[in-house]
Amino acid sequence: MSTQQDNKFQQIISHAKEYGFVFPSSEIYDGLSAVYDYGPYGCELKKNIRDYWWKSMTQLHDNIVGIDAAIFMHPTTWKASGHIDNFSDPMIDNKDSKKRYRVDHLIEAKAEELAQEGKKEEEQALLQKMDELLAAEDFVALKKMIDDYNIKCSISDTANWTDIRQFNLMFKTEFGAVATDNPDDNIVYLRPETAQGIFVNFLNVQKTARMKIPFGIAQTGKAFRNEIVARQFIFRMREFEQMEMQFFVRPGTEGEWYQFWKEERLKWHISLGLPKEKYRYHDHIKLAHYAKEACDIEFEFPIGFKEVEGIHSRSDFDLTQHQQYSRKKQQYFDNDINPATGKPYGNYVPYVIETSIGLDRMFLLILANAYEEEVINKEDGSTDSRTVLHIPAKIAPVKLAILPLLKKDGLPEIAQQLLAECKPHFKCFYEEKDAIGKRYRRQDAIGTPFCITIDHQTKEDNTVTIRYRDSMKQERIAISSVKQLVLEAI
Ligand code: ATP
Repeated sequence: MSTQQDNKFQQIISHAKEYGFVFPSSEIYDGLSAVYDYGPYGCELKKNIRDYWWKSMTQLHDNIVGIDAAIFMHPTTWKASGHIDNFSDPMIDNKDSKKRYRVDHLIEAKAEELAQEGKKEEEQALLQKMDELLAAEDFVALKKMIDDYNIKCSISDTANWTDIRQFNLMFKTEFGAVATDNPDDNIVYLRPETAQGIFVNFLNVQKTARMKIPFGIAQTGKAFRNEIVARQFIFRMREFEQMEMQFFVRPGTEGEWYQFWKEERLKWHISLGLPKEKYRYHDHIKLAHYAKEACDIEFEFPIGFKEVEGIHSRSDFDLTQHQQYSRKKQQYFDNDINPATGKPYGNYVPYVIETSIGLDRMFLLILANAYEEEVINKEDGSTDSRTVLHIPAKIAPVKLAILPLLKKDGLPEIAQQLLAECKPHFKCFYEEKDAIGKRYRRQDAIGTPFCITIDHQTKEDNTVTIRYRDSMKQERIAISSVKQLVLEAI
């Protein structure tokens, strides 16, 4: 990462804290690593992103319904899903600093260095080779790669490494207060993904909502992973939120549905007005234990291109596993006629396409894309500056600020009337204090797209000044048109 990129990232982190978006968890006790709390504006933004996703999935697709499953699940779930045996990352420790690294992160950092030295081909070859070795779980060769490139620990600056080991990322806890002979009997896990809550409810949902294949089940909720490398703000957290959708399809059609969802999900991002050129797909070579085909949707964060969402073709892996472990059939009866046989398709275990996006990561994406330290050229030739968040109006924490110019002459009363008219429809903010310029700047900093100022002229002709966040343009409009104008923009 260049110093400039790092600076921008640090500025975003400070801004997020200063303006009530994101705080370190339990900060008065010096925080808890990779755990964060959302403040007054942060929780609004997060909720708006979640709602936007939820609506686009469940309301705008007739064949997708939602659920809200519990975080705790029967422990056998995680045996069946493969997480107990496979949900681990290859790690390596530096013997001098005692610092533990994810092997892929260490090698990726080296590749980034090569790229910055202009050795693009060598960088690509290194990443390609790494993917192959990870896919083959060839830890001896990966260790040799680290040695050959003389990759060093950033703290001790030595290349004194242990062997590579697997480290499971699931959090364990104890359930209930019943003492048993075997302490393992009481162990439950905090779910590392929300997907399994969907799979174990597949038949409940299909039957009660009378869903016909192809159909999807959507869910948003917390997930927990004991991440080793956890120092990228809300990019990689130990407690985070996912927005996942599992789409159940007839076997043999998964290829087309995978393509469909790959494109559909990118369109969702673009529909928020986010820049297309900052997105790219990254097709996986190393597939997760369940996957048939998989890709990431990556975004150019200030820390480089990084995954924000995964699209996975999971085959019938999960349902078949649950069928086997629970000894309960996880099948669907398809009475559509198969043209090849002239008979119904009959019973089968559906195939699944998953779309999985991190809500916190999407939040960071929005913040990173919105943040600007803008230099303003004034009419008198001087310059000024402002920090502004160009958050898409649809998801901005506050949509409208209502600002009476003075605290007297009946202006607050008019402003209060406008507030009463607008607040049942969208989130407003009301403020009388401080000079108007200062109040505008504070709204810029939290990304409020519209500010309305009520002044003496309002009393004469029922017009107000509207100020647009992005252009800073101001114009007079009828007070009666404010609500409609904002509603149309959001
Ligand atoms: P990564 O390679 O970054 O660890 P992953 O491939 O393990 O991510 P998935 O299991 O596919 O991630 O999870 C789906 C989505 O959940 C990711 O695209 C990401 O947005 C989000 N996510 C995963 N882990 C975290 C985390 N520790 N903190 C925040 N978001 C996360």
